[in-house]
Amino acid sequence: MTQATAPEIRPLIRAIHDYPKPGIVFRDITPLLSDDQGFQQTIDHLAERYAQQGITKIVGIEARGFIFATALAYAMGIGFVPLRKPGKLPSTTLQKRYQLEYGEDALEIHADALTQHDKVVIVDDLLATGGTVLAGVELVSDLAAQLHECAFIITLNELPGVERLRDAAIPYYTLCEF
Ligand code: AMP
Repeated sequence: MTQATAPEIRPLIRAIHDYPKPGIVFRDITPLLSDDQGFQQTIDHLAERYAQQGITKIVGIEARGFIFATALAYAMGIGFVPLRKPGKLPSTTLQKRYQLEYGEDALEIHADALTQHDKVVIVDDLLATGGTVLAGVELVSDLAAQLHECAFIITLNELPGVERLRDAAIPYYTLCEF
């Protein structure tokens, strides 16, 4: 079966200039989320892409990644695994630190959330420098699960994330590029 073309969601992504600080163009997904067709088509498209691939879990990145990841897991009838900011997950966790433009952040996963029998898609709303998703990729790998692909709603192609994923031979998919 051939993959249907991605829905045209670009008009539903709003640019907010100088947010959260001067010089940043924030790509706001809330118009996409509040558009019944746009959101549904986005999830349906991803669910079709990952059908019959042996995917066992959708791994979502806090916070906006959760919105797409949980809907996708539900649409596919499989489980959802959260990657959360430090201190939010209640049981034993693994943690990966990563660099931000200024400073550092970290992601955590429950140590028993995935096993070597899992094949996963990691979902986030947007790829910028790649630090966030690369931390997620390492956590999935630390739990010996297989990464099928990383999925983004948006990639910012002038920032290093795209190249970092290519250099690391990490497969990714995006619905919309800026
Ligand atoms: P990065 O780790 O640099 O790839 O950043 C990705 C994360 O930061 C995603 O979870 C996004 O939600 C958020 N993010 C980074 N840059 C932007 C932007 N320009 N607009 C909206 N979200 C952004």
